Amino acid sequence: MTHQTQPTPNRPLVDAHVHVFCWGENPSDGFLSERTRGAWRTRILLRLIGIGKEKGETLSEKFRSRLLRHVDGSKLDFVVVLAEDAVYREDGSRDDPATHFYVSNDYVLDLARRSEKILPGCSINPIRRDALAELERVHEAGCRLVKIHTAIQGVDPALARFDKFYRRAADLGVVLMFHTGYEHSCTVVSQQFTDPASLARPLDHGGVILAAHCGVCATFDPEDYYPNFVRMMHAHDNLYGDTSIMAVWNRWRSLSRLSREAPAITARVVHGSDYPFPPARLPFVLRTGPFPPERRNALDMDLRIKQSFNFGPGYASQMLELLGPGSAGEDA
Ligand SMILES: [Zn+2]
Repeated sequence: MTHQTQPTPNRPLVDAHVHVFCWGENPSDGFLSERTRGAWRTRILLRLIGIGKEKGETLSEKFRSRLLRHVDGSKLDFVVVLAEDAVYREDGSRDDPATHFYVSNDYVLDLARRSEKILPGCSINPIRRDALAELERVHEAGCRLVKIHTAIQGVDPALARFDKFYRRAADLGVVLMFHTGYEHSCTVVSQQFTDPASLARPLDHGGVILAAHCGVCATFDPEDYYPNFVRMMHAHDNLYGDTSIMAVWNRWRSLSRLSREAPAITARVVHGSDYPFPPARLPFVLRTGPFPPERRNALDMDLRIKQSFNFGPGYASQMLELLGPGSAGEDA
């Protein structure tokens, strides 16, 4: 028997955590560093997703065509596509040589103009000198979620110097997504910045804070931040978690663990895939059946797996409400 939680009819389905990569042919759009391009994990990903078969002259075009093809063909109504800001020096200047993964905000804003289903998730490293101005700019352009990659961008969320940034995001109603849990896809500045316990400071400003990956670490990591995520969820009503990356091989048990938490916790868990990282299918075969029709679309397959768990009724839809009126292009 397979499991499927039925979504409430007429509520849109949203994936809150989708990536697009730029190889670096046009570095102002985005780039992966030489080290990231050559890493075995990048090579494996490119092979797994069959990027060579996609339309486009360059690898960046192929990433983009694959994403647009999957988004168009998906049963999802909206996906939040994330930019990835650079590493910055202490003086607030951009440090390209230390940056291993970059996608510009304008690249993601442009994608959102090309597809009605794409919502822009810009990224701002709060260390940058013009962080507040960039926050205002992307908000003006329609962005309602900003991602901070604690590990890759070297941001300790607990620093008092970011208070103004957190305050402005809360005032504008911009959701702040923080990466939590050990990061393995790219070179990091510090894994310790990914502990959900360090989110108390942004949470105190009262806006919606989204802990990407719910603090989950891989089985081989020296620490597990998930218990701290649960503790923080109990203590802060404005904290949410997304399920991105939780269906991959080294974290697949994390979904059943999360689904067993109290309803007060699971009600604030939202759907995210971490596309293009594909979900593992074998650990979930009893839930989805061996040949679910969704297997042809990585976005739909990830949703199919996660909807087989018992998260709250708003699991796949409440992200749109968190993003607020006007976030999906309709009139505010
Ligand atoms: Zn991600």
